[in-house]
Amino acid sequence: MSKIMIVEDEADIAEMISMHLAREGHESVTISNGLQVMPAAIEQHPDIIILDLMLPGLDGLSVFKRLRADTRTASIPVIILTAKSQVTDKIAGLESGADDYLTKPFSPRELFLRISAILRRTKKVVLISEMRRGPFSLDRRNLKLFLHGQPLDLTTTEFKLLTTLMENDDAVHTRADLLREVWGYNGDVATRTLDTHVKRLREKLGEDGKAIITVRGTGFQFKIDGEETPVETSAT
Ligand code: CA
Repeated sequence: MSKIMIVEDEADIAEMISMHLAREGHESVTISNGLQVMPAAIEQHPDIIILDLMLPGLDGLSVFKRLRADTRTASIPVIILTAKSQVTDKIAGLESGADDYLTKPFSPRELFLRISAILRRTKKVVLISEMRRGPFSLDRRNLKLFLHGQPLDLTTTEFKLLTTLMENDDAVHTRADLLREVWGYNGDVATRTLDTHVKRLREKLGEDGKAIITVRGTGFQFKIDGEETPVETSAT
């Protein structure tokens, strides 16, 4: 069973969708005001959001952009609903990366075919491409880091370095390992390069930079605050 959020202010359409979803074995929740979508999506994390464009409070396209800009909701697939006359809206919806869209009036069958296709697709992809640890969320498909839900600008090397550290979170990564995995070097000829990048990465992470721990004489380790830290470490 999947949880589907219906964002639609026209009660009869919302009810029709909800009724058919229930018949297919899906749970649904209806939101009628654009401003209520973000808080509800963060709290309930639905599998799919069906989003009408014409909404009171906040229009559907703005809602969609907010959903995509926050890591807690960025990966939720969205199907946009538009009235037949809103051709430009439809194009804007596609350009901003909606997973699918449907033109009103639509048949329930059409909607469910699209829902099923998205569920089949995303249940796999999301697991592979997302990695979360504490406030860190890595979107490996798009090479993006979100920290506390906010996107952070990292260079490709910094992203690779952080991913490598996070992938094996309990292990200590030696300098030689990191130089080989991130830079493709053999031997530890360029230790200073590594230290410079770690320093810069920590600075960008601010307070959360302390998750990258220096293991004296060995290398680095990724640890989230509050978890057990190994002996013989310093955060220099
Ligand atoms: Ca509407």
